[in-house]
Amino acid sequence: MDLLSAKGLVISRNPVNEVDAMIRVISRQGVTGFFLPRGFLASSRFLGIFQPLHWVDFLFSKRLDLRVIYDYTEYKKCDPGILDNAEARELLFDLVRTYSRLQDAKLPDDLGGLFTDVYDNLAKQGQNIRGLRLSFLMLFLLYEGIFPALKRCAICGRTHIDTNYFSPQNGGYICKECSIENQYSHTGKILWKALNYTLKNPEGILEKSNWNDDILRYTKVLTKYLNYHFIGGL
Ligand SMILES: [Zn+2]
Repeated sequence: MDLLSAKGLVISRNPVNEVDAMIRVISRQGVTGFFLPRGFLASSRFLGIFQPLHWVDFLFSKRLDLRVIYDYTEYKKCDPGILDNAEARELLFDLVRTYSRLQDAKLPDDLGGLFTDVYDNLAKQGQNIRGLRLSFLMLFLLYEGIFPALKRCAICGRTHIDTNYFSPQNGGYICKECSIENQYSHTGKILWKALNYTLKNPEGILEKSNWNDDILRYTKVLTKYLNYHFIGGL
């Protein structure tokens, strides 16, 4: 039997019958479903290991289309520093919810790495969690390929956008003319600048999560944008 290894955060565990379960794991490679056969292992110890919010290093085999868990090599519980901090915990849950929507999907390297990087930052002491959320949002939009239009009006394509008019529904910044008949949120130039900075320097954004309140107030607008373009509704 060929054994393969995987490592990631368990995000859900659902029973498929009375003794077996299916778990889903976020790893750098993707969001993947694995079959956890308790009957096959004749042991319940695995049930304590393969639980949501545990990081698990494990071995699995491929049988037809099913990835069947065979054994684990290492595991650790979710960092208590995250679970004990309401803001950090909420951000982690939002991250898990967002990635769960990718179903069983192979992730681009950047998107897979982003999850782990944000998790590592969440676990650090003294993090600006609200800032981390904004950084995550901007990077997720970039790596998922749904980044807002910054240079040309998202509606008419003309180059004279107005950085005051950000339209989540229409895909980004729009021009003054298009703002007359379309919904938009008023944003200052500061959000436009931060988005431009993200485009130019994505690797540096997570380290630069100490955003101030002037820009953090636009997190809601970007969340609305994400909901509209990724989840499909406001
Ligand atoms: Zn326009």
